[in-house]
Amino acid sequence: MKSIALSLQHCHNQNRYRRREVMNSPQGVHVLLENTPYLSFCSNDYLGLANDERVKNALIEGVSQYGVGSGAAHLITGHFEPHHQLEQALAKHTGRSRALLFSTGYMANLGVIDALSSRGGLVLEDRLNHASLIDAGLSSRADFKRYKHTDLYDLETQLKNATQDSPLIVTDGVFSMDGDIAPLNEMSVLAEKYGARLLVDDAHGLGVLGASGGGVCEMLNLNENDKPIIMGTLGKAFGSFGAFIAGSGELIEWLIQRARTYVFTTALPPAVAMASLASLKIIQTEPQRREHLQFLIKKFREGVSELGLELMSSQTPIQPIVVGDEKQALAWSEALRKNGVLVKAIRPPTVPEGTSRLRVTLSAGHSIEDVDKLLHELRKLA
Ligand SMILES: *Cc1c(COP(=O)(O)O)cnc(C)c1O
Repeated sequence: MKSIALSLQHCHNQNRYRRREVMNSPQGVHVLLENTPYLSFCSNDYLGLANDERVKNALIEGVSQYGVGSGAAHLITGHFEPHHQLEQALAKHTGRSRALLFSTGYMANLGVIDALSSRGGLVLEDRLNHASLIDAGLSSRADFKRYKHTDLYDLETQLKNATQDSPLIVTDGVFSMDGDIAPLNEMSVLAEKYGARLLVDDAHGLGVLGASGGGVCEMLNLNENDKPIIMGTLGKAFGSFGAFIAGSGELIEWLIQRARTYVFTTALPPAVAMASLASLKIIQTEPQRREHLQFLIKKFREGVSELGLELMSSQTPIQPIVVGDEKQALAWSEALRKNGVLVKAIRPPTVPEGTSRLRVTLSAGHSIEDVDKLLHELRKLA
C-alpha cells in the first residue's frame, strides 16, 4: 500500500483533492461561506425548510420538553414520544403501514439491506446508486451485482438468470448526481414477475415529488402491496436530520430485531423528531413550494438550453450541467464563485470518469431573479 502522503499527492495531481469550507450562516439560498456572501445552488434544502421559523421553533420547543440527548438506543430507553409520532406520520405520508426512524440515510440503507439479505441471496443494484446503497450491497453477505443505469432489459436478464430466491432489487428513486427518476412502475412489474423484492431510496424525491410531497412512489402511484419498500431522508427536503424505512408491519418488526444500524446506536434527539414533524406538516400543507420549485426547474432548463450547454434529462431540482473533465468543471465553478454564485463541481469518483459536472440544485427558496442571475453568469462561460 502507498503511503498516505503519496496517496494525497496523487489526489492533488488528479484534480480530485477535496477541501471543506466553513459556513457562517444558516443553510439556505443566501449563505456566508468562509465569511463571504454567495447566492447558493448547492444545498439539498429543496423546500427552503432548514431555516424555517416554524421548524426552528419546534426544535426549541422539543429541547425544552425533552432536553438534548436521547441518552440511549431505541430498544433501551431512547424511543421517545416524538419519535413514535413521527414514525406514524411518516407511514401515513408515504402510504405504508409502518415506518422506522434511523439516525441517517446511510445507516438506514446499511441496516435495511443487511436485514433483508443473507448468505446465498442476491442484491441487484443500479450502477449509479448512492454510495451508501453500494456499500450496503458490498458488505451484505449476499451476492452483489449491478445492472446498467435504469436499464430494464439488463435488470430482467439478471433476474432471469438468478438462481437465488427472492432477490433484492435496490435503486435510487431520483439519482443524486444525474437527477433522473428510476422507472419504478416497470421495475415493480419485474419484481412481481420474478418474485423479487424492491427497495427505493427516495432521499431526493420525498417532499419534492408527488402532489402532497409523498415522493416518487406517490408520483408514480406505487402504493400497493408495499412495493417498493421506501427509504426516505429527513436531512434534505425536510431541512432536518435523520431517515426512515417505510413498509409493511412485518418488515418493520424484522428491522427492529435485525437492523444492526438501528439496534446498536443512540436514537436521534427527540427534539429533532419534533422539528421533522413540523417540516412534514409544512410539506403537506404548502404545495405552493413544490409548484414554485417546478416553475424554477422549467425556467432554468429553458435558459440553459438557449445557452447551448448540455443538461441531463432531469425533471427534479437536481440539474447537472455536464462539463466533461475535472479541470474544466473546477474552472467553471471557480469563475461562478468569483461572481458570487456558488455551484459545486462534482468529479470522479463521485461520478464516472469524463462526466465531471456542475451540480446545480434548485430550491423553493430561490426567487425567479436568483435563477436569472445564475443564467446570466452561465452565459459568460458558455
Ligand atoms: C443523502 C443521501 C443518502 C444519505 O442520507 P443521509 O441522511 O445524509 O445519511 C442516501 N441516499 C441518497 C440517494 C442520498 O442522496
